[in-house]
This record gives sequence, structure tokens and C-alpha cells, in this order.
Amino acid sequence: MTVDGQRIVVLNSGSSSLKFAAYRPGRDGERLLSGEVEGIGGKARLQMGGTAKDVTAADPVAAMHVIADLPDGPMAGDVVAFGHRIVHGGPDLDRPVLVDEPALARIDAVSPLAPLHNPPALAVLRGLRDRFPGIPHVACFDTAFHRGHPPVADRFAIPEALYQEGVRRYGFHGLSYQYIAGVLPPEIAGGRVAVAHLGSGASMCGLVNRRSVDSSMGFTALDGLPMGTRSGSLDAGVILWLQQHKGWPVDRVEAFLYHDCGLKGMSGLSNDIRVLLASETPSARMAVDYFVYHVARTAGALASSMGGIDGLVFTAGIGEHSDIIRARVLDRLGWMGFRVDAAANAKAPGRITGADSRLPAYVIPTDEERVIGNATCALVGV
Ligand code: ADP
Repeated sequence: MTVDGQRIVVLNSGSSSLKFAAYRPGRDGERLLSGEVEGIGGKARLQMGGTAKDVTAADPVAAMHVIADLPDGPMAGDVVAFGHRIVHGGPDLDRPVLVDEPALARIDAVSPLAPLHNPPALAVLRGLRDRFPGIPHVACFDTAFHRGHPPVADRFAIPEALYQEGVRRYGFHGLSYQYIAGVLPPEIAGGRVAVAHLGSGASMCGLVNRRSVDSSMGFTALDGLPMGTRSGSLDAGVILWLQQHKGWPVDRVEAFLYHDCGLKGMSGLSNDIRVLLASETPSARMAVDYFVYHVARTAGALASSMGGIDGLVFTAGIGEHSDIIRARVLDRLGWMGFRVDAAANAKAPGRITGADSRLPAYVIPTDEERVIGNATCALVGV
């Protein structure tokens, strides 16, 4: 029985943001509040319930304390469990886990596979254990949803020994894809659906009968589509060239690939596609063209992985909000049978292709926090 004030709290640590939500216990329990500290390490701002204010948060743990201190925030009540998004679960963590010392050791062990993502999330988790002792924590992994890929989609063309050491295609954004898989329109739910999660990080996933069969992301969240500041797929020879001919040390190459490439690097202007769409400069146009080209190209690749395609779903920041990008992607995919309906596309979410379209495309807002919240309730039994 839930007591008034009881809640579960979900934390979603990004590279410079900490999103949070509080829910009543129980599957699909009422969402009490949600918000975000963004700009961590720089000009940090807290957003919650339609208001925003500047805060001091030098790192993710400081941001967690800002949230925990709020008199009307997620922790201002009887917290029965915390749920966390952990980007990388490695080869074996294929479902959410209740966090105990052995589980923490397993998550620590795979953190080198996601050096920029796992450590801040784990630091927040440990900070919360110190501040609120005795409350259970559940870890949910972005890689878990993809662990059922056929072996051929799980491999690189490298020796088996490296695969056994963990060098394999994991796929990410799995919590988002799991949410979308659970709310697909009935007419395509059992079919072959390409889902485009286009946010500041971007990837695509092939779903067959709601299960992931392939993903555009592989070993790390650098792979696949171009992103706000990440390169997406790059010939490995480029990295060798940067090291051998430009003499860049590995730290510089890493910072470059994660922070200075993608839309920002190509345009020399911004990582925000809205800024690029509003710009007339050739480099901004090229960055947008490249993004659209690769989303469409990846849809084609996933159609092949899935043995055909019955529909396409757009989600996350760009996917949910940019009718221009959606229309341009669908125009490129006209050969496949998509025909955008301009009016429907302008007032998404929902179906954005018309009656004359052989295949349907939809905008479906994602909700990773809800997936984490439900998994947390299931594991702690509330
Ligand atoms: P994250 O990957 O950080 O969770 P989101 O899914 O929230 O990101 O997406 C953030 C991105 O969405 C921003 O970088 C911005 O480019 C894009 N975005 C947000 N709103 C719009 C909009 N109205 N039109 C186009 N792009 C948008």
C-alpha cells in the first residue's frame, strides 16, 4: 500500500545535465514532478515545473545535492527507491539490477567502455547512497535492450579474442527504444520499424515485433549518425592519421571526437540544429545536409537488417520538434514509400504521413525516465 508522500526518484545523468523525475510507486504511477540541471560545470541552470534559475553545480554530484536540497524537489518526500540510467552495461548486464556491492563492481568493471558516461552516473548513485542511506537503488542500462541482437549484428570484423574481451557492437539509447517499443501504434507494433532517436546524441534502432535487431551505435556512443558534437561513424584510418601525421595524443583525439565534431564541427557554428537551419552559411547547410543524408541512409541499412520496413518513428529533441528535418528525411526516403503530410507533420506528435503514403511515419515523444521508474518499482516490489 502506498502512503501519501511516497515516491520513487529517477536520475538520468548526461555529460553536462542531470535530469530527474519523481513518481508515485507502482507501474506507470503518477508523475509528481520532473526537471533538469543543465550546464553542469559551466553556467548551470535548474529547470523544474516551468521555472528556471541559475545554480552552482561544478559537477554531477553537486547538481544532485542542488536537487536534493530543493524544498519542493523530488527528494522532499518519502523516497522508497532511486532509479538510475547507466549508459553502458557491458556484455552481461542485459536487464535492470538492484544495486549492491557485487552489482556496483560489475558496473565499475565496464565503465572503461564508456569513460565519459558511466563515471558521472555512478558518482551520483554513490553520492545519493551517502546522503540517503538505506534506500534501494536500481540501475538501468542503455545497452540492455540491444543484447538480443543476432550474433552477426553484435560483431566487428576483428579476431574473436577481442570480441570475448568486450569489443563488440552494444548499441545505446535502449531505454528510449524500449519506451517507444511499448507504445507503438497497433498497426505497426508487430512489424519492422526503424526508430530514429535524434537528440544531442543520435542513433537509430531496428525493431522487429518490438525487439531490437540492430542499432546504428556500436562499441561506444560515438558510432553511427553524426550528433551535436560527436562525429558518428568515421573510418578508423582517420584516427590513425590524426595520431601519426598530426601528432595528436590520444586524449586530444578523444576530446575532439566527443566534443568538436558532428554538427558543431562541420558547421563551425553550433551544435544546435535550430541555429544551423536558421543560417545561410554553406558550412551550416552542409552540416544539416550531412545529418539528413545519414538518417535516411541508416533507415535504408536498418530496412535491410530487418528484412523490410513497415514504418518509421521519430523521437527525442530533434525528432520530436523539427518538422523540417523530418520532412527532409522522409523526402529522401520517398523511394521506400514514405510521403509526408505537411499539415500533420507541422502538428506532430502522431502520424505524419498522409493516406497516399505507402508506409507510415510517426512522431512519438520518448520517456526514458518512465522506463527507469517502472523497472525500479518492479525490482524493489512497490
Ligand atoms: P539529449 O540527447 O541531451 O537528451 P534531447 O533529446 O533533449 O537531447 O535533444 C536535444 C536537442 O534537440 C538539442 O540539441 C536541439 O538541437 C534539438 N531541439 C530541441 N528543440 C528543437 C526544435 N524545436 N527544433 C529543432 N531541434 C530541436
